[in-house]
Order: sequence, then C-alpha cells, then structure tokens
Amino acid sequence: MEQIDVNSYDRIIVACSGGKDSVATLLHLLDCGAPVDRMELWHHDVDGQGEAFMDWPSTTPYVHALASHFEIPCYLSWREGGLKGEILRDGVPTAAVLCETPAGLVRRGGAGPVGTRLRFPQVSASLSTRYCSATAKIDVADMALRAQDRFLGSRTLFVTGERAEESPNRARYAVFGPHRTDTRDSRRRCRLVDHYRPVHAWSEAEIWAILQRYGVIPTLPYQLGFGRLSCALCVFMSVNQAATLRYIMPERFAALAALERHFGCTMKRECGLHHYADRGVVYAAALARPDLVARSLEHQWHGPVVTSRWVLPAGAFGESAGPT
Ligand code: SF4
Repeated sequence: MEQIDVNSYDRIIVACSGGKDSVATLLHLLDCGAPVDRMELWHHDVDGQGEAFMDWPSTTPYVHALASHFEIPCYLSWREGGLKGEILRDGVPTAAVLCETPAGLVRRGGAGPVGTRLRFPQVSASLSTRYCSATAKIDVADMALRAQDRFLGSRTLFVTGERAEESPNRARYAVFGPHRTDTRDSRRRCRLVDHYRPVHAWSEAEIWAILQRYGVIPTLPYQLGFGRLSCALCVFMSVNQAATLRYIMPERFAALAALERHFGCTMKRECGLHHYADRGVVYAAALARPDLVARSLEHQWHGPVVTSRWVLPAGAFGESAGPT
C-alpha cells in the first residue's frame, strides 16, 4: 500500500482529532515525503465552539499547536451547537455545519427534516444509532469537502488514522479507495477525493514509536491514564474512565447524569452514569497530577508540542475503551 504517490495530489487533508493515531498519521506522511505546502489539518470541534460539554477543552488548542509546529494550516469545522445541540434536539432539523476555509467561514445545511433525539447516542457499532460520530465528525467532514469549490477539478487525498487493532468494525475499513464525497465520474461537479488510512495495520507500539521519534508530546488525557483520545465523556467510556471523569469534571459528569433522568434513558444500557462510575477506580496518574488535570480542562495549550525528553504516557498500552 506504500506505493501510493502522495505527491500526485493537489491537497492532502489530515483529519486530526489530536489522538495518537491521527498524530502518527501526520508524522508518517512527513516520513513519506508528503509536500507540507499541500497539506492541511482538519479538526472537528465536537462541542461546536461552545462551552465544554462532551470534549476535553485542551484538545482543539493541542491540534492548533501541532499544526503551528509543523507549519501546516489548520481548519476547524463543527456542528452548530455541537453534540449537545443534537442530543437535545426536539422537533427541529439537525443543525448546520460551519467550516473554516482559506476563503473564510462557510455554513451549510440546517434545513433537513425535523426530528427529536432527547437521548444519548447508543453504545453501538452502528453509526445510525450511535449518531454522535456522524453528527459531529463524519458528516461534518463530508459537508466541508462538498461545500468548497476549491476541491473541484483537482486531486485530494483525505487521510484518517483508524487502526484495525481498535475494533473488528475498524478492521474491515479499506486502507485506500474513493472517499464518500468523490465525484470523479461526474461531468458537472467533478471532484477526485481518495481516502487513505496509512496506519490501519499498525500496532500501538508502532504508533508510540513514531511519536517518540519526532518527540511529539501526547496530548494530556494520555498523560492522565486514558489509552485513547475520544470525546472526554464518550459513550464508550469504561468504568475506570467514568470514575476518573467524575473525579476530573464533577459538574459536567453530574450534568450528563441529570440528562439521563430527564430523558428517562441512561447512556449505558446496564445502569445510570453514577452507578457505572461507582464500579470503577480513578486512574492513579490523574490522582497524582492535579496540574495536568487542570491543564486538560483549559481552552489553551501551554508550551511546545515537542520535547527532547519524551516519555511514554501513563495511558499507553492500557485500557482502550473508545469508539468502535
Ligand atoms: S468519541 Fe465517543 S462520544 Fe465522541 S463522537 Fe465518537 S463515539 Fe461519540
């Protein structure tokens, strides 16, 4: 699969969540000699630029710091009102998408069929019931690709960091092929977009090794004991993650538990969030590092994103609860 000629594309978009796999994807492209002046990082802000609800506030600033270090432009995109807006949707259409572009902010959608959620996304591999991934990430990226005429009549490589090791569902993903937004055979709006998952076959050890080689500091949740960077309050959270999140962000955790009561439906099938967290143990790294806990909750990134004294974070090779 390494015969893919990254230099044959006019643009290379790296979807960067800030998680280790997407960072490794970026670094691997640099290893492959991808032209930096044709690269861009896209990051989907799941809280829609509003107050922190589902995500780590430090994630978006970390991605910005990473982009700035490698001198690659970074464009944010988000669903208006974020995931909170979709979870609380009551008799209205799914909100519009906003995306940053070289030509300014673009807004699309928001006029679809009316509908109601008033429940959390289901813990399921199916993206229709686990609607958060589509609402906050997949559909947002598609909308951003379709909304920008600069992708017409040119070749775009859209690169993401899913790995087979993460789940049987992800193991079935193709490493390379036309992206959903590809219209290369269209006469009217012809857009060639290939989707490439270069680290699909990589092990976790290989992922950490490339971060270490470049000296890239893993973002803060890894240093607090989390094995994957998902939304902070991801519906796939383990019992230990729930206990740790209740410890780190008690008000936000309590707000989700209050929503469970309001919806009459829990996030986890088996029990409510508080009972779920009661079954877990707070990560030792989170207990030991209140300074890192505080930084993880800030809407800014302090200092460089690379270091000459790289250390494996506490969450490495630990629990890998997260989206399937
Ligand atoms: S990280 Fe978890 S909560 Fe966030 S969109 Fe993905 S599955 Fe949903």
